Amino acid sequence: MNLYTGPVFEMARAQFAGVADRLDIPDGERDRLLLPKRAICVAVPVHLDDGRTQVFQGFRVQHHLTLGPTKGGTRFAPDLELGEVAALAIWMSWKCALAGLPYGGAKGGVACDPRVLSLREIEAVSRRYMQEMIPFVGPQVDVMAPDMGTSEREMAWFMDTYSMHQGHACAEIVTGKPVALGGTEGRREATGHGVAYLVGRACDTLGLVAGSCSAIVQGFGNVGSVAAYTLARRQGMRIVGVSDHTCALHDPRGLPMDEIEAHVRDHGVLMGFSTEALIDPAAMLEQRCDVLVPAAVERVITAENAGRLRCRILAEGANGPTTPEADAVLEARGDMFVLPDILCNSGGVIVSYFEWVQDLQRLFWSAAEVGDRLERLLEQAFGQVTRRAAADKVSQRTAALTIGIERVRAGKRLRGLFP
Ligand code: NAD
Repeated sequence: MNLYTGPVFEMARAQFAGVADRLDIPDGERDRLLLPKRAICVAVPVHLDDGRTQVFQGFRVQHHLTLGPTKGGTRFAPDLELGEVAALAIWMSWKCALAGLPYGGAKGGVACDPRVLSLREIEAVSRRYMQEMIPFVGPQVDVMAPDMGTSEREMAWFMDTYSMHQGHACAEIVTGKPVALGGTEGRREATGHGVAYLVGRACDTLGLVAGSCSAIVQGFGNVGSVAAYTLARRQGMRIVGVSDHTCALHDPRGLPMDEIEAHVRDHGVLMGFSTEALIDPAAMLEQRCDVLVPAAVERVITAENAGRLRCRILAEGANGPTTPEADAVLEARGDMFVLPDILCNSGGVIVSYFEWVQDLQRLFWSAAEVGDRLERLLEQAFGQVTRRAAADKVSQRTAALTIGIERVRAGKRLRGLFP
């Protein structure tokens, strides 16, 4: 029986197969590298505010345990499925290996829509989900973090639930917590800052002056909003398009980011900011810009629209925004500098790793120290990917995946096969 199905898992499988073919990996070893070590599915029953009981489905997939504990985010989304969670766990493995972190990949979440749940109901879902996962996670086994639909708030509830069970405060069970609970400086902004840093490096490589460039950002949550603000404020870029699940805004002269920030702070969404700047969300992706940052959901750049993108740099803040078919179109075009997801959004897991290390040592770093170390690791990974792509004459995605897969493979070979 094939447990892992759906288009997102097929993407992860196809990407892996492409690299495995290039590296000539034998079949038995392929299964060992690709198939997740564990997949946990739980029922998460919760009392709703209206007195009814609803049972949500919860998942956690731990891809491999070869190099250390597994590490990965927790997604609260209505249509979450096991195959999608497994794909995201697999991508986390290649991402951690590429960044040189001592982790395997994991991912988890609950199939629920946090937008229609009350605060109390979200807390109940969070706490019951963590309670169900306690037998399967731990600071040396599997360390959770936020992802779409979750944030510091949910991580605080996860940490509290786990700690109540242990009988003592256990900060190192999750990352992305509030700083007051043992979180690290810079984690909330880490993924968006990392995206902006790598976009800057891509501009350097192409000889573009960042301050004269324009950018479009799809998704305005943790990753997208921080990436947009950082590109605008640190690098002086003109942000000509932004979108979230409610609407898309476009203005070739540049959008007023300070006013947008105030609007989102007050209303939570982009809708209502402007009627003149509204644009069809799909059309926004195809507008002319120097930098396009998909930072929302998977599979938004497809074979259908890839030929119409008009950017110089594609910076994948989201996981899996580009389908393998679209990738083939982009490779054939050859006019785009692609920062593949496992490199581009790795700032989040890198600073999560810093948080875990600080929690284990009970020794905390300054924001400047976190930022410096983040840029050093991103720089290293960026250099490795661009050099490997040039040397092997492959796309930067293939280069990034190859480095990640090779490192996991080397770890498995050195440890051998038990018993
Ligand atoms: P989030 O929940 O904070 O924000 C998601 C944003 O996407 C929201 O603004 C939402 O309105 C928007 N959105 C949803 N569907 C959309 C659509 N169809 N079109 C346009 N916008 C849409 O989530 P996040 O943490 O910012 O994660 C975004 C992506 O980045 C995900 O793919 C996630 O896996 C990836 N990622 C996140 C982190 C992290 O540290 N949070 C790290 C690495 C990768």
